[in-house]
Formats: sequence, structure tokens, C-alpha cells
Amino acid sequence: MFGLSHCLIRRFAADTRPGATALACVRPALHAAVLGLLLGCAPLFAADSDVLAHLALLEEQVMSHPEAALGRLAAADGDLARRSVAQRCQILTLRGRAEIHLGRFDDVRVTTARLDALGPPAEPGCARAGATLLRAQLAARTGESGTAQEHALEANRLATLLGDWPLAYWAADLLASDASARGDYDVALRLREQQAERARQNGDHRRAARAHSSLSDIHYVLGEADRAMTEAESAWRLAVQAKSPWAQAEAKLSEAAAAELKGDLARDRRALEQALGIAREAKSTHIERWVLINLADFHLRQGEYARTLEVSQRSLALAEAMQSQDDVASSSANVGFSLLLLGRADEGRDYADRAVAIYERQDRNAALARLLAEYGHYLELSGDARRAVAAYHRERALLAELARVREAKIQRGMKAFYESERQAQEVELLNRRNALQAVELDKQLLEQRLYAALAVAALLALVVVLQLYRRMRTTAQGLEASNRTLAATRDVDPLTGLFNRRHFHELMRGIADRDRRQQGAAGAPQNALLLLDLDHFKRINDRFGHAAGDAVLVEVARRVRASLRDDDRVVRWGGEEFLVWAALRPADHIHDLAGRVLDAIGGQPFVVDGGPIAVTTSIGYLAQPLPPDGLELSWRESFDLADMALYLAKAQGRNRGCGIAALRRAPDGGAPDIGHDLEAAAQAGKVDLHFLHGPRVEEPLAEAAVAHG
Ligand code: GH3
Ligand code: MG
Ligand code: MG
Repeated sequence: MFGLSHCLIRRFAADTRPGATALACVRPALHAAVLGLLLGCAPLFAADSDVLAHLALLEEQVMSHPEAALGRLAAADGDLARRSVAQRCQILTLRGRAEIHLGRFDDVRVTTARLDALGPPAEPGCARAGATLLRAQLAARTGESGTAQEHALEANRLATLLGDWPLAYWAADLLASDASARGDYDVALRLREQQAERARQNGDHRRAARAHSSLSDIHYVLGEADRAMTEAESAWRLAVQAKSPWAQAEAKLSEAAAAELKGDLARDRRALEQALGIAREAKSTHIERWVLINLADFHLRQGEYARTLEVSQRSLALAEAMQSQDDVASSSANVGFSLLLLGRADEGRDYADRAVAIYERQDRNAALARLLAEYGHYLELSGDARRAVAAYHRERALLAELARVREAKIQRGMKAFYESERQAQEVELLNRRNALQAVELDKQLLEQRLYAALAVAALLALVVVLQLYRRMRTTAQGLEASNRTLAATRDVDPLTGLFNRRHFHELMRGIADRDRRQQGAAGAPQNALLLLDLDHFKRINDRFGHAAGDAVLVEVARRVRASLRDDDRVVRWGGEEFLVWAALRPADHIHDLAGRVLDAIGGQPFVVDGGPIAVTTSIGYLAQPLPPDGLELSWRESFDLADMALYLAKAQGRNRGCGIAALRRAPDGGAPDIGHDLEAAAQAGKVDLHFLHGPRVEEPLAEAAVAHG
């Protein structure tokens, strides 16, 4: 605890300021200390002609020589009414800051009220921004961290809104100090880095130097010696460029702290002495006071109590002359501690108690708590354990109370801060999300287009497929139709439309199969086979032409068909030969059937090319089972018999039918051997023949043929 508190003490003591916390003290110290230039600039103000022309330098003066700065600013009061609102804002804000450095808190409140009167409180103008910054700095100085933070946030917001970056810088300065004080080093680092960056962008080496010194101090607290040193060195380079004594002194103080952390006491001491040299050269008692307080801490830590006393007495004198209550308190404390350790306990406690009283008066519990921690430490070192314990107890109680009060305020304040951080992050996230969404949208659009293209392609493919399918179906249907036609025509004679030989063979094969399956079944249906050959057909062709012959064939087919039942098969066997296959019903007689066919052809002359043609036919026929034995022959055997009968019909004069009326079994029980001579078989009694005469024909083709012949 003391290790850390040493560092805090060192800075605290130097602290001009917002006593609330270690770093807050450190920086605010500068803050107040930020004065240096004054000296160098003083001649510029000699004429005091126009305060506004030297505002930047005046700010330096506020930091290093606040009394002188305040004098000039007060002098500007006379013609303040003539100035614009913006100018009045600047003057009054600077004035308030000088008053804060000088510890004139009542004056600050008056100045703040004057700023308030400049513009409507609701309007986010320069007046409100300036007044808010003053309230924030005042609250920080008086240890009201929560209030300070609240106002700093608001000042930062207003300044950002107005584009007043220096004002925003000081507001952020308070926020960063406060974050450090709370141990929220991430936020503090980020804010300080932003400040450094902003200052660099604006070419403001002085403020950039301060930001780097602050960064160094944060790394110091974090125990990061190398980084602390690097930042301190950066701060120094910038401060030299800026020719700013307070920035240089500040950089040297940061360097001293970093050196302490590195264990480099020599450099620590040297840097402090250099800082003192800078302050003296600048003739800035303001800076000197603050450096001396740090230097006193150093000697105190080194156990150089006599030197501590010497330095502290000097800083105390300066603080009293300056009416800086904070520094009077810090210096008194250091004088007191050194006296305690020099064995002058009563004297020492008087000084230390004076410091305590100042903080008590100001109701600055945070500063008081830190002071009591140091006080207890040195009381303990001096051997006064009883008072040390009492100091610790009081410190604890104060800290607990502080924690309770501050927590609520800080939370409120930090909520606002994190809220604005969050909003900034949200805006950034929103932008990123928008960008992503744009990309996503492009992708989607592309996908949609792709899908649309694919859909169109699919549709086209579908159309093509459908077309192909339809064509295929049409083709298939056509094929089917032509197959059907083919199947039909395969069995049909193209000229007459009758069945052809092929069909008959199929029919016979089917019947044979059926009979085989129904073997043994009784009562097989009776069927008849008639074979026709037109008489002297060559003569018709010869006399009337081949076409007329065809016409006759067509008409013959029609007449035969008409003379039979629908299910009887009429086949064009070839040329002018026809075959009839008929299923006979019990009442049917084969000879009647044959007679009907003879009549159908020869009964009426054919009319071809306007002239009648007498056409007759010869028929050989039979029906099975054949009487008397019920013999059943194969269709080939039947055909052969019918063919022989047809031959007989021709031989006996044509226009007649010759039927196999009976066929007797051979001795072996099978069909008799007829051979090729049907007449001989008939004579042998193997077969009975039945002859039919066709109708009388007026002009038989035979005679015509003879006549032609
Ligand atoms: P037959 O009484 O002895 O049968 O005398 P036919 O003249 O009819 O003699 P055959 O039966 O031997 O002759 C058949 C003739 O029929 C021969 C051929 O010129 C004719 N013919 C065969 N097919 C067709 C056909 O499709 N159209 C025509 N116009 N004539 C055919
Ligand atoms: Mg023939
Ligand atoms: Mg013939």
C-alpha cells in the first residue's frame, strides 16, 4: 500500500487541485500549473491593447502566472459590453480558469453566473459550454468528483458540438484524470491518446506534450516503467518544440516519476531539479510551487527530512503568497511530516493538522483521506503508533463515506459517459453493419439474379423438355398409330380390306393352342372352311383391264363378307382366291353356307365401268368335325381337302361347289389317306362329296371368253 501511496503522495503533494485522486492531482496540478509562458509572453501584453489577439498566449499565462492573467482579463471587463458574445465567452471562461487556479472559488461562481447570463441556458452556445467547463473544474478542485465528471461530460459534448476543440480538450482532461483516479485506466489511456492525437492534428505541441505526460503518469501508476519513460520523453520533445515552460516542467516531473519506477534515483532527482530550473527560469512561482511540492516528496521518500523541510517551507511561502489553499495544505503537510521525522513531533503535528483543517474546511474528504493516509504513515514512522492508528481509522471512515457518496454520482456520470461511448460505438457498428448489409444486399441481389437466371433457364429447359416430350409423345402416338395401322395393315389385304394369309395363319395357330389347352373338352365348336377361286378371272383382266379386275376383286370381297356373319373370317388367299373360315352354329348347314357364297357372287352381275360383268366362282369346302366319325383335321389337312374339292368343282364345270360331306376313319382310327385324287377316294368310299351348282348366269365368262377367243 505504501508503495503505491508513495507515488500518490508525491503527486498529491504537488497537487494544486481536484484532490480527489492521485493522477487527478498530478495533472490538475499541471493544469493549474500550465502557466509557464507568461514570462516569455509578458511583453506581448505590455500594451494590453487587445486581450483577444493573444488568447492562446493568455491561456499559457493562466497556467503559469494566473494572477497576472487574471489582472489582464479583469482589465478587459471595461469594454466587455462592446465585444461579441463569442469574445465575451472566451474572456470569461479564461478568467474563471485563472480564478480556479488561484483558489478564488467564490469569484469563479460569479464568473460562471456572468457566463450563464450571456445566453439562454438551454442554448448549447459558447456561454453554456464555458460555464459548464468552469463548473466541472471547480467541482474537481473542490473534490466533488461526481459533479465534476457530470459537468465535464456535458462540457465535452457542448464543445464538440460547437467545434471548440481546446475547450473539449480541457473537458476531456478532467474526464481522463477522473478515470485514472477511479483506476479506470483503459478509459484514461484512450482519452489521453485521443487528446494527443487531436492536439497533433491541430499542430498544438503544448497540449500534445501535456497529453503524453499524462500518458506517462498512467503507465507509471500501472508500473510500466519503460512506457512511462517513453511517453515522458515524447512529452519533453513536444514541450521543447512548444517552448512551453509548464509543459516542459510537467514532462520533467513525469520523467522523474518514470525514473523512480526504474529505480534510477539519480535521474529522478536530476529531472526534478531540471523542472525546478525551468520554473525559475520562467519566473513562474506557480510552476515552482508545484515543482517544489514534488521535490519535497522526493526528499521525504529518500529520508532527506532536512531538505524536505527546506523545500516545503519555500513552497509553503509561495502558496501563501498565492493564496492557494490547496498548495498551502500540501506544503504544510510536507513541512509537518518532515518535522515529525526530524523529531519535532509537536511542531510537525501542528503543520500537518493545519493541512487537515484546510481540507476539512473545504469539505474535501477525498483530499483529506489521502492526507490522513500519509499522515498516519509518517506518524507511524515517527513512532507515534497511537495517532497513526487514529489517522488510519479516520481515513478508512472517510473513504467509506466517499465511496458511498461518489459511487452514486460517478455511476450517474459514468453512465452518461459510457452512454456517449456506447452511442459512438453504435454509430460505428451501424455504419459497419450498413456496409456489411450493402455487401450482403449486393450478394443477395446477385443471388436473386442468379436464381432468376437459373429459374429462366430451368423454365426454358422445362419448355424445351415439354416440347421434346410433346414431340416425343406425338411421335410415340404417331408411332403407336402407325404401329396400330401397321398391325392392322399387316393382317389386311390392301386392295379388298379382307384379312390376308398371314392373319389366317395366326388365327389357326391361336386356335391350335386353344384346342391344345382344351384337350379332352367335349363339344368343340363346328367350323367350316371354304376355298374360293374365281372362274376365268384372267379373262376379266384381259377383257376389261387389270383395274376392272381389281374392282371385281373388291366387289367379290364385299359380297362374300355380306353373305357371312361378322365374326366369320374372310381371307384373300392370293390373286383371285379367297378363304372363308366360319364358326358354325348347330342350326347351320355347311352346304347352305357354300350355296349362299355362290349366289352372292354369281347371283348378280358386277357393274364395272358402267357395264355388267358376270362373275362366278368355284368353291371347295368342308366342315368339321367331319361326319360320320367326327374326325377333326388340322387346318392344313382341311385346306388340302378343300383345295382338292375346289379342283373337282373346277373340273366339273365351275360356278359350283364341291363339299366334303363325310370322311371315314382309316382302319387305324386316324384320317384316311386320300392322296391327291379326291374322286378316287370318293369311289373308294373313304370320302363322300357333295356338289352344289351356282346360280344361272346369263353370259358366263366361259362363253364370252370363247367368243372373244
Ligand atoms: P380358272 O377358272 O381356271 O381359275 O381360270 P382363271 O383365268 O381364273 O385362271 P387362274 O385362276 O390360273 O388365273 C388367275 C388370274 O388372276 C391370273 C392373274 O392375272 C389374275 N390375277 C391374279 N391376281 C390379280 C389381281 O390382284 N388383280 C387382277 N386384276 N388380276 C389378278
Ligand atoms: Mg386362281
Ligand atoms: Mg381362277
